[in-house]
Amino acid sequence: MITAILYHPDYLKHETGAHPERPERAALIAHEVKERDLEKRYVWLTPQVCSQEDILRCHTNDHYDLVHQACEKGLGALDADTVISKDSFQVSLMASGGVITAIDAVMDNQVDNAFVIVRPPGHHATPDRPMGFCLFNNVAVGARYAQTKRNLEQVLIVDWDVHHGNGTQDIFYLDNSVFYFSLHQYPHYPGTGRTNDTGEGKGQGYTLNAPLSANTSAKDYRNVFDEALKKILSKIKPDLILISAGFDSHREDPLGQLMLENEDFAWMTTRLKQTAQSLGHQRVISVLEGGYNLKKLGKIAVAHVEALAENL
Ligand SMILES: [Zn+2]
Repeated sequence: MITAILYHPDYLKHETGAHPERPERAALIAHEVKERDLEKRYVWLTPQVCSQEDILRCHTNDHYDLVHQACEKGLGALDADTVISKDSFQVSLMASGGVITAIDAVMDNQVDNAFVIVRPPGHHATPDRPMGFCLFNNVAVGARYAQTKRNLEQVLIVDWDVHHGNGTQDIFYLDNSVFYFSLHQYPHYPGTGRTNDTGEGKGQGYTLNAPLSANTSAKDYRNVFDEALKKILSKIKPDLILISAGFDSHREDPLGQLMLENEDFAWMTTRLKQTAQSLGHQRVISVLEGGYNLKKLGKIAVAHVEALAENL
């Protein structure tokens, strides 16, 4: 398998001060992945900046303008959690743009799959509101791009961040062409993601939430994951699988109380690759969301990327 890694030092220009979502996160993941790539098997690609049009497939004009103008004013906060700096707007266009670059690379058969080491993260950004460290919804922008520009019909988003991706759920709640599946600690921030939130209208049955209590064992987590995958595949045959790869569901993350170890992230990665393969393709693109244990983050990411690059 040829795996692309997308990263750019400009991702560090989204300055957040004394905040858990800080530049070092992306820097140390990129560093560790590079260090451990002894056989030089990953293809490092430069993320492009996405267009306003790409963002507006998922967010309102007001949302776009709010982020743009707030960042121009310099360091500040959009809410209690969501800190921005002067360059944050440009950096977020490159964060969503990184997902688009990865999609193009996979669709043009340059690589088989990809891991995008972006920040700011995206899954809490709703159609009309930046929140929870997130400005624009990177995976959602990617899903819409894949559909409009690369003619893919059905997309599956698997979100294993410890927090529920309320923004991603909102964006696709009425849609049956993008399936949103989230496993998350519950109750926990942002308070959404109940089992009976399953989509609405045409989208009924295309949102699947697996709320898990704090300290759920990795074994139970895996069972829930596998059962859910079966259910999802009875509803759709995704042409692309996007992962909202939050590593804050790791046992030692300071912002969550789930119990996953490095090998669980590798296992989920392999399961999603097998799923893609069973559908006749290999299109899996993983996008960094949370993960705040600076001592563990690099190693978790390496386990994830090694599983992506491994031959099935
Ligand atoms: Zn998170």
